[in-house]
Amino acid sequence: MAAKSKGVTPKQKSSILAAAWRGWNNWPLYVRIIVAMFAGVLLGLVLGKRAMVMEIPSKIILQLLGALAPPLILVAVTHVLMTTAIPGKKAARLVGLLVLNTTVAILIGLGVANSLQPGRWGVVAPPATVEQQDTGVNPWELLVQNVPKSLLGPLGDKQNIIGVIIIALAFGIALRGVRDKSVGTVQDLVEVGYNTLLVVLHWIIQLVPLGVLAIVSKVIGTEGFAPFKAMLAFVVAVLVALSLQTVWYLLRIQFLSWARPWDVLRGMRDALVMAFSTDSSTATMPVTYACLKDNVGISEESASLGALVGANFNNDGTALYEAMAALFVAQLIGTDLSLSQQMLIVLTSIIASVGAAGIPEAGLVTMTLVFTAVKLPTEYIAMLLTVDWFLDRCRTTINVLGDVNVSCLLDGKRKR
Ligand code: ASP
Repeated sequence: MAAKSKGVTPKQKSSILAAAWRGWNNWPLYVRIIVAMFAGVLLGLVLGKRAMVMEIPSKIILQLLGALAPPLILVAVTHVLMTTAIPGKKAARLVGLLVLNTTVAILIGLGVANSLQPGRWGVVAPPATVEQQDTGVNPWELLVQNVPKSLLGPLGDKQNIIGVIIIALAFGIALRGVRDKSVGTVQDLVEVGYNTLLVVLHWIIQLVPLGVLAIVSKVIGTEGFAPFKAMLAFVVAVLVALSLQTVWYLLRIQFLSWARPWDVLRGMRDALVMAFSTDSSTATMPVTYACLKDNVGISEESASLGALVGANFNNDGTALYEAMAALFVAQLIGTDLSLSQQMLIVLTSIIASVGAAGIPEAGLVTMTLVFTAVKLPTEYIAMLLTVDWFLDRCRTTINVLGDVNVSCLLDGKRKR
């Protein structure tokens, strides 16, 4: 008796896959990212150290997003300048808002660290020396290197032909949709460039959940949650301080902008979840900009100033974290920092946060500035690394929320 197992034909298989892909893409981005995050945790637990391979897709997707940030800044800002006149008063207001928010963030950080005293809660093992891993070049690493890190970089770099091809393919296909548009004025030209960038951006955004799955599984597999026990007090204190900073932003939006705090949070879900999961405010920047304009309804001018221009200097979460880390280490080693030393921490944290790039762990690099200013041993920064993969995500989310706050306040009390 021959079993009649006809099975699924390749055609049926591909239409099932296409339907599944369409169904998946019908979910809002933030839901897809959250699902990917949980799947990443499970995968990381299953794979353990082997999850290291997942670094490759995550790096590729983050690099692609990062490559879009500079041209987006260039074209979007050009567009705003071209179509609206930005009064000098507004630019001055932007600077004022940035300085105020960052100072408040640092004062909240110092206030929480002084009152909760996380460094005196328990015993934390002294820093282990971080060993430099020497990995030889492998084909995957080569692939990662070929994906453009910046849009113009590969054009000036003779070695990276594949990078140029990737860019040309993306823009070539995107431009097909607008090729019949006659370019009458320079403004048309900039608009075409701008809209093309947004199209490419939306393609890359579809890949974000995959990048999140990869990065989360890699981190959980290789780092795990074990160090959290030892550093619990510090983790809790930072989370308390970041929550207070969020309250500050929402209150300011409530009283000084036409936008309603809850609507802002809802409209920005994609960007905030993405900031948390990618660990990079620069990679999130294009999404922040799109959400501000399309979901919240902030004017193009305010969104550009707050989320594209301001974002490069505005890292409140990082500033708060650096100040708290300094105080935490001082408490750990039993050094009392005087008021004037804490003032020095405020100053250097502002500088260090402005200097921190919007990429994962950038804050730890500039933190040495704060530590050396008040003569704290910088070896302790390595100790923070064990929990930084998590805390960095939290402060990156606040960095993005800070840009959102500035954009809302710049937009004023009346909707335009
Ligand atoms: N990861 C942060 C960001 O992208 C920077 C940092 O504090 O390390 O905004």
